[in-house]
Amino acid sequence: MGKKPIVAGNWKMNKHPEEGSSFVDEMQDLLLDIKHVSVIFAPPFTGLFEMNVDPPFYVAAQNCHWENSGAFTGEISVSMIKDCGAKYVIIGHSERRHIFQESDDWINKKLRSVQSSGLSPIFCVGETIEQRESEQTDKVLRSQLEKGLSGINSIEDCVIAYEPVWAIGTGLTANNKQIELAHQTIRDILSSNYKDVEDIHILYGGSVNSSNAEDLIQVTGVDGFLIGGASLDLKSFSSIARTVEMVQEKKI
Ligand code: PEP
Repeated sequence: MGKKPIVAGNWKMNKHPEEGSSFVDEMQDLLLDIKHVSVIFAPPFTGLFEMNVDPPFYVAAQNCHWENSGAFTGEISVSMIKDCGAKYVIIGHSERRHIFQESDDWINKKLRSVQSSGLSPIFCVGETIEQRESEQTDKVLRSQLEKGLSGINSIEDCVIAYEPVWAIGTGLTANNKQIELAHQTIRDILSSNYKDVEDIHILYGGSVNSSNAEDLIQVTGVDGFLIGGASLDLKSFSSIARTVEMVQEKKI
């Protein structure tokens, strides 16, 4: 049996704790019978503690600080996130990189901190439209992966998310060929430093919705999705998870 696909929803700065927890309860009721997909919810920090999930449902934080505690106003550490019952932490999302100027060095520190706590990072990489148009995509992916993972010996517990910046929240998706090539490039880059890279999940993110999910999940090398907008709506998010379940079931 192959890898179990992941459908992860990044709520960004949306949903108050009560809204989040009732959303999660309803999703779990709607998807009681799913067996072949893991579903991850990433609420804002304030909602982390309220999420009541049981596998195959999990919780992720959207960010973290790399220190365990101290004078870091406004930050939250991985051990605090762990206390809330989360299993994953999204690191290096394009909004963190571009709006909050997160550097590869910070991303590397965060990845190390997530790993050393026993949680799993969902490590996001992706090119801007200018970089794609000037044929820099492979170079950018290599640089983000190598700098982000610098000094990290094993990526067994890492999930990678390929998210072209120009496709996030724009309604534009990368086409199937672009996605397949980027996922292959990522796997090749990782393979030069790590073993068993075939077992790593590489998710696609960028305007995934209930209409394009069936097509996108069948692109070679796509092991699931990281979803922004469509993860806020119960009908859309559950329908995407169900679609991935159905496609996976046919493969088994
Ligand atoms: C994201 O924020 O990671 C994302 C992929 O957003 P959207 O699905 O809205 O494009």
